[in-house]
Amino acid sequence: MLAASALPLAAAEPESGATRKLKVVCVGGHPDDPESGCAGTLTRYAQLGHSVTIIYLTRGERGISGKSLDEAARIRSAECEAACKIMGAKPVFFGQIDGATELNKAHVDTMTKLLSAESPDVVFTHWPIDTHMDHQVASFLTIRAWMALRKPRLYFFEVNSGSQTEGFLPNTYVDITSLVEKKKAALFAHVSQDGEGIWRQHHEVIANWRGREAGVSAAEAFVHLSRDSQTTKLPGV
Ligand SMILES: [Zn+2]
Repeated sequence: MLAASALPLAAAEPESGATRKLKVVCVGGHPDDPESGCAGTLTRYAQLGHSVTIIYLTRGERGISGKSLDEAARIRSAECEAACKIMGAKPVFFGQIDGATELNKAHVDTMTKLLSAESPDVVFTHWPIDTHMDHQVASFLTIRAWMALRKPRLYFFEVNSGSQTEGFLPNTYVDITSLVEKKKAALFAHVSQDGEGIWRQHHEVIANWRGREAGVSAAEAFVHLSRDSQTTKLPGV
């Protein structure tokens, strides 16, 4: 963890001699988004013995030409499961449809119940200013759910900055130098959307750039909503 404004990763704080397990939840719009934004950080949490759950808002069902929504959903759900296995995370599928996601009271209630049941210490989601509406819906559903809970620390991740995420000025960095291979493997598990291409064209560049900003070889960067806690330290990593 980097000194500047570290994620509460290392926050496996000893409590009466025992190490407290943190609960981490990441909400992404499509298969590959949590991996693109924070696979390194999520893997690190899992390696440290914390529990990591990834909520995929959709199953990416619209992305495979020549395949029905159901067929694509099956293929991509299996890819999510493979990626989660690599990261040490548990996948949960929210059940909205790729390209047709909605932000409404019923979905806010569902997300609030899901998050509430997980009782997370740390929540990650998309930065809300993004050219893809599904990313925005994932972000706002999570923000609304977080506002009902208030307890978890909320961090926003970036995906394909400049093309999708916009106006992202990170204040928290996680050194993923030793986790780059894991991040690549998690992304590469998304074969049907050319995870290798996503890495090469977008997230390899971003990992290197954020690493330069943080003074390490490779990093993931986040915006921590400063209102949610007094500290800027990421718990547990
Ligand atoms: Zn996406």
